Order: sequence, then structure tokens, then C-alpha cells
Amino acid sequence: MRSSEAVLATSNLGKLGEIREILRDLPLAIRPLSDFPGVILPEEGANYEENAIAKARAAAQFSDRVALADDSGLEVSGLGGAPGPFSARFGGPGLDDAARIDALLDALAKCSGEQRRARFVCIAALATPGGDIVTARGECAGHILAAPRGRSGFGYDPVFFVEGVGRAMAELPESEKNRISHRASAFSALSGAIRVQFGLAPPD
Ligand code: IMP
Repeated sequence: MRSSEAVLATSNLGKLGEIREILRDLPLAIRPLSDFPGVILPEEGANYEENAIAKARAAAQFSDRVALADDSGLEVSGLGGAPGPFSARFGGPGLDDAARIDALLDALAKCSGEQRRARFVCIAALATPGGDIVTARGECAGHILAAPRGRSGFGYDPVFFVEGVGRAMAELPESEKNRISHRASAFSALSGAIRVQFGLAPPD
């Protein structure tokens, strides 16, 4: 039914799976961007919130449906908060996740202790075809390991040791990542606005 479906403005299948699971309690079909061929997502800039809004807005206008999007990144203390909104491009164009991790570990080769402190940040956005926008923020604190550990997740998960959990993000079962991650916090905070948008009852 069209009134209970939203499109997710990402081509990252890892994010699609995570966001579907995070929002699984909502009676909402989350459709992939590939269901709407021709949507052009904007180039990303230096600001998570602007990027998330621009992606959600583009998908909502093109699909004529409510759209969800996120923009996220890794901020490392010893790199002055970099790579931040540029996380997907750190180390240069054309790298895969493993090569990007190598570039991060190289950049941190002389860093220890506090300098390896890091956080994942996520801004989640909802846009309607009529132009309404709501955003929410989530963070997850940790530090960068000396070498990758674990095989789950995507991106920098193998080198991100999650504070208070005692394991690398990539060592966690999907269900646990989706309980504690920056994306989980942001989309959980957005879920009230999603319920309002679709006229869904509040949770018990
Ligand atoms: P975005 O698609 O512009 O939000 O790019 C975010 C980039 O940040 C991704 O390509 C990853 O490199 C990194 N990133 C964001 N969230 C995560 C995560 O949950 N795990 C690992 N890396 C992440």
C-alpha cells in the first residue's frame, strides 16, 4: 500500500539492511533506491546534515514518496575529526573498504592512546514530496584498533573498537550493531517523526 512505504536514498546495501532492521517494528515497507531508476543523488559536501537532507529531498521529489536518508562518517581525534563527512572518500578515489582501512591505519601509525579515540556520527533525514524535512543525530564512541578484527558490517567496522562493548564493530552480530550503532540512535530518534508522517500509532 503506497501510504505505508518509504524509499531509502542510498545505494549502500549495508545501510539498507541495517536501516530496515533498525525500523523493523514500524509497519513500513522500505524500498531501495534501485526501485526508482533515474534518481540522481547530489554530490556530498562537508556537512552531514546538509548531505542527508539533500539525499532525502532528491529521492522524495523523484519518487513522489516519503524518503529516508542518512549521512554518516568516522571522526578520529588524532586526525582533528577527519575523515568525517569525507569518510567514504578517505585515502583517494576508487579504494575498497579494505584499502580505505589501510589508509586510515597508515595515517594513524604514529598515534596512540587518546589520539586513537573516535566516534561514528550519523544524521538521519526524512523528506516528504511536499518539502517537509525532519532530521535526527546519533553517535557511537570507540577507538581505532591497530589491525582489523571481525567480518560483519561494512566500511571501517573492522577497526572500530566499540566503547563499553569490548569488541570491534565487525565482531558484533548484526542485531547487536543495530542496537548500539550511530545509525540505530539516529533512526530510532527519527522513528517518532516517521510514525507521525504515516499516521502510525505510538509504540506500546
Ligand atoms: P555516506 O554514505 O556518505 O554516509 O558515507 C559514510 C562512510 O562512512 C561510509 O562509506 C563508511 O566508510 C563510513 N561509515 C559510515 N557508517 C559506517 C558504519 O556503520 N560502519 C563503518 N563505516 C561506516
